[in-house]
Amino acid sequence: MVCYPARFQLVLASNPCPCAPPRETDCVCAPSARRRYLGRLSGPLLDRVDLRVRMRPITAMSAHEVAEPEPTETVRGRVHRARERAARRWAGHGWRTNSEVPGPALRRDFALPGTVTALLDRSLDRGAVTARGADRCLRIAWTLADLAGAERPDADHVATALEFRDRRAAA
Ligand SMILES: [Zn+2]
Repeated sequence: MVCYPARFQLVLASNPCPCAPPRETDCVCAPSARRRYLGRLSGPLLDRVDLRVRMRPITAMSAHEVAEPEPTETVRGRVHRARERAARRWAGHGWRTNSEVPGPALRRDFALPGTVTALLDRSLDRGAVTARGADRCLRIAWTLADLAGAERPDADHVATALEFRDRRAAA
């Protein structure tokens, strides 16, 4: 038997289309070419990517428009507090982070009210989200709640987690 260390964080990046212009409006790709290009990322692989973020090219102009970024120290503090919150919650169960919580535990022992998960349930029914994707979405919702200092996720956290998964955000 071979045992691989497999706790890792995967970060992927791709261009939005084959021509990848500095300004979106300059794209010369046919819709079919864009679809083909993005289609090269397999569904099962993308299904495991929890946070899909569309980055805008930074131009000389927009660099000045961007508000003063938060200091790293501030962000680090917020993330630290969120991780502590999660660690305290799961302490009695042997997990430290939201990503370690098994799907069945998320859905049964720590199930959220139907009003909170309504949007996710509908997406699951429609087939817009896989069962695996739904579990991953719940973990992100818990993390968003932890970052907000909330006791548990609300409908907004679930909606935001879903938005992060939305493939259109990356298309
Ligand atoms: Zn293009």
